[in-house]
Amino acid sequence: MKHIPYGRQYIDQQDIKAVVKVLKGDWITQGPEIGKFEEAFARYCGAKYAVAVTSGTAALHLACLAAGLKSGDEAITSPITFVATPNAVIYAGGRPVFADIDYDSVNIDTERIEKTITQKTKLILPVHFAGLPCAMEKIYGLAKRNGLFVIEDACHALGAEYRVGNNWIKVGSCCHSGMAVFSFHPVKHITTGEGGAITTNDKRLYERLKALRNHGIYRDKGAAREKPWYYEMRELGFNYRITDFQCALGMSQLRKVARFLKRRREIAGIYKKGLSGIDSIDLPIEKKDAKSAWHLYVIKLKNGIKPEVRRKRLFNYLRHHDIGAQVHYRPVYFQPYYMERPGFGHEQCPVAEDYYGRAISLPIYYGMSDRDVVYAINILKKFL
Ligand SMILES: *Cc1c(COP(=O)(O)O)cnc(C)c1O
Repeated sequence: MKHIPYGRQYIDQQDIKAVVKVLKGDWITQGPEIGKFEEAFARYCGAKYAVAVTSGTAALHLACLAAGLKSGDEAITSPITFVATPNAVIYAGGRPVFADIDYDSVNIDTERIEKTITQKTKLILPVHFAGLPCAMEKIYGLAKRNGLFVIEDACHALGAEYRVGNNWIKVGSCCHSGMAVFSFHPVKHITTGEGGAITTNDKRLYERLKALRNHGIYRDKGAAREKPWYYEMRELGFNYRITDFQCALGMSQLRKVARFLKRRREIAGIYKKGLSGIDSIDLPIEKKDAKSAWHLYVIKLKNGIKPEVRRKRLFNYLRHHDIGAQVHYRPVYFQPYYMERPGFGHEQCPVAEDYYGRAISLPIYYGMSDRDVVYAINILKKFL
């Protein structure tokens, strides 16, 4: 039996051709493929603008800066996320504050956000965990009432949708946020190797993000007519430029995104059929008004005094049978870097901590065959 990873990329001949074509051309970076990909990506999400950068982490960093996060400002986020989410807040000089999750959806609990707001709170950074959209209408309403900015960490949620009235809205359309952030790491829905993007409907944010991606350099069209060499660095930016061959790959991948999403949904359906009725686990949910993009398939062990002991046994059992189980995630504030800093540590978010002891991610990715899914179900059933 070959090893089944928890996630992986899917690259076909068209992807390879698209990259090679750019490699043979004149522009391998700072060329036309970047704008083309950004335009297509923004259109897919239903936003006006997209800015592509070197990673999802870089995208989070720039989004925090463009939102005006400064030293001393607090940003409220979920503890059940990849470390990049709160780290980006710290890069920008701010302080992440963790609000507990809702156990069923594994997303940040809107009521806990409200209780976590202080005089220093500047922004809310919800994470659409595993691809299930957060309660964006509520979060946005809460943010507006309190004068806060919203950045969505949509790294799990390309193609996810939620309903407002009779309309289904795509995550990334920024109908209920200032910006949304995506990652194109190989385990995500589409890949550029490393890469990420920010979507927004705000032209000023868009211009600022583009400048911050390139050292904080602005080019004034009027001045450039007189002095073509002229540019101004007005703020401290970075080199977070993605290459043209990565964007060619991104464009080619984006053409397949509907297929990718459909297959992930099918796999989730096979798991659900095969695993429902087992009393000792909770399966991931969707909601009437929220469709998951199924980035992860996380089951939770129920019952038991020490679920984490049983979870560890299950993890090893699955790995022993070549099933690449994972745990997403340990509450970020338990990471040593955070534990060493004042204010972070034990029993901040009891629901997240309880969740962490029970969660295990099963493999889910476009190229996973029905046979592999059924195999994973059968092995899991033997353990349970
Ligand atoms: C992947 C991911 C990131 C970071 O993306 P990179 O492209 O790896 O830098 C941030 N947040 C979440 C929730 C992620 O899953």
